[in-house]
Amino acid sequence: MLKSGDIIGILGGGQLARMLALAAAELGLRCHVYAPDRDSCAFDVVHASTCAHYEDEAALARFAAAVDVITYEFENVPAGTAAFLAKRKPVLPDPRVLEITQDRLEEKQFIAGLKIAGAPFAPVHSAVQLFEGVERIGLPAVLKTRMLGYDGKGQAKIAKGKDPMAAWRLLQTAPCILEGFVKFEREVSVVAARSRDGKVECFEVTENEHRDHILKTSRVPARVSPDVAAQARRIATRIARAFDYVGVLGVEMFVVKQGRGHALLVNEVAPRVHNSGHWTIDGASVSQFEQHIRCIAGWPLAKPKRLARRVEMVNLLGAEISQAARWLHVAGAAVHVYNKREARPGRKMGHVTRLFPPR
Ligand code: AMP
Repeated sequence: MLKSGDIIGILGGGQLARMLALAAAELGLRCHVYAPDRDSCAFDVVHASTCAHYEDEAALARFAAAVDVITYEFENVPAGTAAFLAKRKPVLPDPRVLEITQDRLEEKQFIAGLKIAGAPFAPVHSAVQLFEGVERIGLPAVLKTRMLGYDGKGQAKIAKGKDPMAAWRLLQTAPCILEGFVKFEREVSVVAARSRDGKVECFEVTENEHRDHILKTSRVPARVSPDVAAQARRIATRIARAFDYVGVLGVEMFVVKQGRGHALLVNEVAPRVHNSGHWTIDGASVSQFEQHIRCIAGWPLAKPKRLARRVEMVNLLGAEISQAARWLHVAGAAVHVYNKREARPGRKMGHVTRLFPPR
């Protein structure tokens, strides 16, 4: 159990670490961010920072000695780094979760093992497997690299009548999975928190809209029936329990038509705070960031409640960050700027949350 003034170590220095550190500060905790990039935007707001590579054992050992508990803002923390740190300080959520969620194939198999539905999938490690997969799953389909994919990177769609090999070559014939293309009605996500003593609180189901594979807008309430919403929360809860998870995780799902009703297919699990939960900073009684800090600190969870009839979060991507000041004039809009140095196209530079009616 952490106490006031204790120090949380965070691996990764992007906007998620930045917002975690801000939430920790409000609770009287301090953060030490470890990230290899000198320009990490989380460095601006923390008690201490280490700028070093994830393989630098001397720097990792000093970091571990300086903190009370360690967490991370992204799932691609190298397995060796997590194992090295876990020998020295508690790492939450458990590094075992990283091993599964870093690899799309293992993740899909884990979800399928829980009897939770997802798109059909097949491993692709050879041209033979690629054609076997296409034969079984059919086209259109999506080929995704097993490792290191995010925001649509490491993905290639294979349209009907197109050459599957071209897609695989585009991904440099890396180990992949082939996934059936889902004709979804909408995309939703559930951000769930599980405390050290095993209690789970889910945030409300959020409806997400992507642009070029990157999240653009999240809205609550999602346009799903109470039944589907309850099912989505149950799915996220089951996944959190199966991982023996401590902290906040995001589960992305597709809503598909099934007969006269709807069904849910899990697309992806993110073992961290999630972009579709950013609306909770301004739009809910507790934010996903505070909830994550409460979990890893061994503190009780809060019961989240939405604060307005409708809440919408819009990501400011790339050059759109130049519009941030415009939002300062808009009633009910909360502006968040991450202060990243370079506004590369598609890069998450900030977000705006709007409450309706404005408060
Ligand atoms: P991912 O990196 O797997 O989260 O994919 C990013 C986005 O690509 C998703 O949010 C969907 O909009 C789209 N996408 C991914 N997989 C599929 C699929 N099997 N069928 C249809 N759309 C997909």
